[in-house]
Formats: sequence, structure tokens, C-alpha cells
Amino acid sequence: MTAVNATSALAEVAGARRGVSMRTTVGIIGAGPAGLLLARLLHNAGIDSVVLESRDRAYVEQRQRAGILEQGTVDVLRAAGAGERMDREGLRHDGIELRFARRRHRIDFPALTGGRSVTVYAQTEVCKDLIALQLQEGGPLLFGAEALAVEGAGTDRPRVRFRREGHGGQEGQEGQEGREGREEVLECSYVVGCDGFWGVARKAIPEKLVQVFERTYPFGWLGILADVPPSHDELVYARHDRGFALLSMRSPAVSRLYLQVPEGTDAGTWSDGKVWDELERRFETADGWRLRRGPVTAKSVTPMRSHVHEPMRYGRLFLAGDAAHIVPPTGAKGLNLAVGDVVTFARALAHLRETGSGELLDAYSGTCLRRVWQAERFSYEMTAMLHRAPGATPFEDRIQLARLERLASSRAAAQDLAEGYTGFALE
Ligand SMILES: Cc1cc2nc3c(=O)[nH]c(=O)nc-3n(C[C@H](O)[C@H](O)[C@H](O)COP(=O)(O)OP(=O)(O)OC[C@H]3O[C@@H](n4cnc5c(N)ncnc54)[C@H](O)[C@@H]3O)c2cc1C
Repeated sequence: MTAVNATSALAEVAGARRGVSMRTTVGIIGAGPAGLLLARLLHNAGIDSVVLESRDRAYVEQRQRAGILEQGTVDVLRAAGAGERMDREGLRHDGIELRFARRRHRIDFPALTGGRSVTVYAQTEVCKDLIALQLQEGGPLLFGAEALAVEGAGTDRPRVRFRREGHGGQEGQEGQEGREGREEVLECSYVVGCDGFWGVARKAIPEKLVQVFERTYPFGWLGILADVPPSHDELVYARHDRGFALLSMRSPAVSRLYLQVPEGTDAGTWSDGKVWDELERRFETADGWRLRRGPVTAKSVTPMRSHVHEPMRYGRLFLAGDAAHIVPPTGAKGLNLAVGDVVTFARALAHLRETGSGELLDAYSGTCLRRVWQAERFSYEMTAMLHRAPGATPFEDRIQLARLERLASSRAAAQDLAEGYTGFALE
């Protein structure tokens, strides 16, 4: 046995005594887009990681959420080697339509931004592509592995305590075994909490260091998936006195549509016919545009929230994506922000490896938050401009319409929207 092997064997024994079942450089909690892309970026940089995901593979691959990828996100996925199917099946969109007062106005992205666009490619597909790559050539990706807590975030060996469904663990380990699985410990050099809004990672940051900025909205989005070709070839954002509506799509054969509904609405109280009738009213134009109807395959309500957790780093624990911030979906920013965070972390860790300087890692929280707050502002303004708050006054209605008129008549106003929509650059 060489000296190095002897040392690691001793460390394994010591680790086993402390209940450590796995070791890695970066422990990633959550296999949503943030966690999966981070694992890929680290793999490409020659840095090992382990991903813990509490749910099963089918859940992650089927969870209907985002669908709009900014130009920067598309570039990152391509550079990471995860863009092949996206390039084949994703739909490039060069604009969106704003609809108000029964009129239509197109925002032309390339003309207003020097050539930028967005790509429609569902989050489910991004996750499928990244999972396939990770299982083929990446490090461990454990489904059914629920992180219970991050411990020692302020030390140089943080640990993730987790429970693996139906897994008895290894002989000689400490832990509590029950019907639901056995507790295990992942020891890491760094932990990245990519575990979404309801995750556990951010709880490891001492409360006294944390500031939370939050806004909830008195409405939500009732979203449907329908097996019908989209009624328009670009997204339509409609402001109507009855509330907001969005026409979007997942593919040339599948439409995704949303209606603003009161907070706390039960999706079950909306029949398919009622949804289509309401969509038709809100999208109505003076030029006779028609909405195509088709079989509804999914229906759910999403609450609307703005939320920022500062800081996004404590010691060797880093937060990324929805674990640190939530935006209302109006600006299509959530997934794109998650991508920005993990790119920033992966670059910073690679920089430390290459140069020995922890300068970029130290700057992680501030770097990410500058971009996050631009996206929060953009999403808030889009939401305020297009949704009708309960009890809105005629004055507020006129202000919304004046804002939309301004977008339709001023290149500067339209350019600001186009730049925000196609994405804020990574620093
Ligand atoms: C209806 C809707 C529409 C949206 N539309 C858009 C859009 O058009 N464009 C856009 O950019 N964004 C959009 N978003 C937002 C986007 O979906 C999220 O911002 C994105 O999913 C964030 O990715 P994430 O990886 O940070 O978190 P998540 O996708 O939430 O992934 C977190 C993962 O962590 C796992 N996890 C949680 N707790 C634990 C634990 N204790 N242990 C282990 N694993 C755990 C979860 O199971 C999950 O798989 C939309 C969201 C919704 C709800």
C-alpha cells in the first residue's frame, strides 16, 4: 500500500466511524436545472461532485415549469455539451406580442438588441438531456436521496446528512434505520444548495446573518397544457380588464396557456370549457384573431411570489437557483437565473483550482445578487404592467394602458423590454 493509499484508507476508517458514507468535492442538493447543470459544468472542469435528489427520475423529468431559455442560457447549454437536442427541437423566437385594448403590438428582439433572441425548449427536456449525460459520463446522481440538513457549513469539511429511500446503507455505519431508509452522510469540500424554494440548504445559514426580501401577489396563474398547435407562432402577453392571459407553447403540437386567477384558486373548479371561454375573451382582438382549442392534458395553479435570500453564501455553503430567489413567472426568468448562479459558482471554483485565488468564490453572492435584482425588477414590472390586482382603480388601469402604449410607440421603451426579456449578461 502506498503512503497516499494508506492515508486515504485511514481516513475512510475514521470517516466510517463518524458515519460518513461518501466523500466528494462538491455536494449538490437537488437535481432541478440548477443542480444538474452544475454537475455537468463541474464534470467538464474535472471537478467531482455528487447530486442528491429527494424525488425519483420520472418526477424530475415530468415536472411542467419553465419553457423560455434566454440566449445566454442556450449558449451555456451548448458549451456544456447539452445542446444537441435543444438545437434540433427548440424553437427560436425573435419576438413576443403584447395584446391590450383588443390591439396587437410585436416586440422585435433582434432588431432591438443587436441580434438576441430566446428559445422555447421545455424545462422537462433540459432536465432529461442533463440527466442522460450525467448518468452516462458524470458523477453519482442519487434519486430518492433526501437531504435532511447541511452541517458544518462554516468549517472546511461541510457535510450533508441525507436519507436514501429503501437503502440500508453500508455495514458498520452509524445512523437511524427505519422503513423509509437509513441516514447517511456526504462529506464535501463545498455544498451547493440547488434544492428549490422548499429545500433545506438555506436553513443552515444562521438567521442573524440573513435578510429576506419578499412580496406575494393577490393572484396566481392557472396553467393548462393542451394537445393543440399554438394559435400564434410567438408568445402572446395579454392585458385585459378581466385579468392577464399568456399564450405559450412547448412544441409545434403542444400549447401552454395561462390565466390570471385569484390567489388560492382550486384548479378543479375550472372546467376545460370554462378555461377556453375565458382565454378566448382575454385574447380577443379587433382583427378577428382566433384561438385554437384542443384536449387539455394538465391543469394546475401556481402562486406568484418575489423572494430574495441574502446572502447566497455562508462559509462553504452556496445557494443557487430557486433556493435563493423566486421571481413571478411573467418575465420567464427563474430557470435562467438558476443557470447564471451555477455558471458563476463553477467558474469561481475552477478559478480557485487554476490560480489558487478564492477571490471569485468570495464574490459569489454579490455577483449573483446584482443579476438577481435586475431580474426581480424586470419580473415585477412585467407583472405589474399586465395583471389586474383585485380592487384596481380606473386610475391604475389607465396607467397600465399608458405603459403599454409607450412600449408600442417608443423604441427606447421597447428596447428596454427586449433587453430584459432576452437576458441580463453574466459578469
Ligand atoms: C408555472 C411555472 C412557469 C415557469 N416558467 C418559467 C419560464 O418560462 N422561464 C424561466 O426561466 N423560469 C420559469 N419558471 C421558474 C423555473 O421553473 C424555476 O426557477 C426553476 O425550476 C429553478 O430551478 P432550480 O433547479 O433552482 O429549482 P427546482 O427546479 O425547484 O429544483 C429543485 C430540486 O431540488 C429537489 N429537492 C428539494 N428539496 C430537496 C432535499 N431536501 N433533498 C434533495 N433534493 C431536494 C427537488 O425535488 C427539485 O428536483 C416557472 C415556474 C413555474 C412554477
